[in-house]
Amino acid sequence: MRFTCFPMTAPLIDPFARAITYLRVSVTDRCDFRCVYCMSENMTFLPKRDLLTLEELDRMCTTFIGMGVEKLRITGGEPLVRRDIIQFFRNMGRHLDSGALKELTLTTNGSQLAKYAQDLWDAGVRRVNVSLDTLDEDKFKAVTRWGRLQQVLEGIDAALDVGLKVKINAVALKGFNEPELATITEWCGKRGMDLTWIEVMPMGDMGDYDRIGQYWSLKEVRRAYDDHYTVTDLAERTGGPARYVRLEETGQKIGFITPLSHNFCESCNRVRLTCTGQLYMCLGQEDMADLRAALRADETSTAPLEAAIRAAINLKPKGHDFDYSRQKVDGQMTRHMSHTGG
Ligand code: SAM
Ligand code: SF4
Repeated sequence: MRFTCFPMTAPLIDPFARAITYLRVSVTDRCDFRCVYCMSENMTFLPKRDLLTLEELDRMCTTFIGMGVEKLRITGGEPLVRRDIIQFFRNMGRHLDSGALKELTLTTNGSQLAKYAQDLWDAGVRRVNVSLDTLDEDKFKAVTRWGRLQQVLEGIDAALDVGLKVKINAVALKGFNEPELATITEWCGKRGMDLTWIEVMPMGDMGDYDRIGQYWSLKEVRRAYDDHYTVTDLAERTGGPARYVRLEETGQKIGFITPLSHNFCESCNRVRLTCTGQLYMCLGQEDMADLRAALRADETSTAPLEAAIRAAINLKPKGHDFDYSRQKVDGQMTRHMSHTGG
């Protein structure tokens, strides 16, 4: 049964007067890579029966859209390794057609983009974030464990060829991609791709991440740009933890995602749904609401689900608990990013 989302119910406003308009959905915890800061090499994945079916994911997303969510980001794990995921994108495209959804997008490691770029475009996706930490083949292998750089580069080319706007996300790793800052920046610039640096977060078991690189503060990354370019701060905000600058020499926009600082929480407009139907109101807090039970409570009506969503949003905390101060990682999360969705 395909659910529509009209008439729209009252918008989702949390106790701190923030409107929730952005839903990030992890559609699988599985991945074809094993990035050192994200997964251990021998990951135990969830039993398949625990995952929401694609039809259930559709009902979830449709219900959120009916409650005012305007932007949907599909993530994982690697979203493009989930079977039939393109059909899910096509189905979500109907909310773009109706105007209820303003943007349908995804975050991907790029490995399957050569195969799916055209399908994503046809479904209404216009922008993708591709995670890529290095342009060196051996280093790529080291950081992803299982990935092949060439495959990702071909995926990015395919995405650009069909007209998708691509943003590259790189996790900042001291001593690892630090020497590549200018190379990666120029490579993105030549292809008209924005670049965002992400500060590494203490998620799950960090495995042998320590052997590859260390915490590279984005303050230092920013300083490294100052050494190479004329850098202008941009006022642009997205309701998320990103700050942007422009490089005057190239006109490129560079983003810095510092989830460990508290300065974005006051404008946070997002919540995250795991592949098992748990809603995390904040990436840095353990509090969650089990929406799967509410979803399965009634197959003909979304009323229980809507009530559960409203109750969950009422619990959205003011801010998160990460703290890297004094060289100690406080507020460390036990769950993996691939479960919650990055
Ligand atoms: N597989 C897709 C990908 O890699 O883009 C989507 C899921 S991945 C969990 C989403 C993003 O989270 C990626 O950009 C990845 O680099 C980032 N990420 C994973 N673990 C992280 C960590 N511990 N700290 C910061 N970013 C992390
Ligand atoms: Fe997979 Fe993305 Fe995690 Fe890397 S960061 S292991 S590509 S989910």
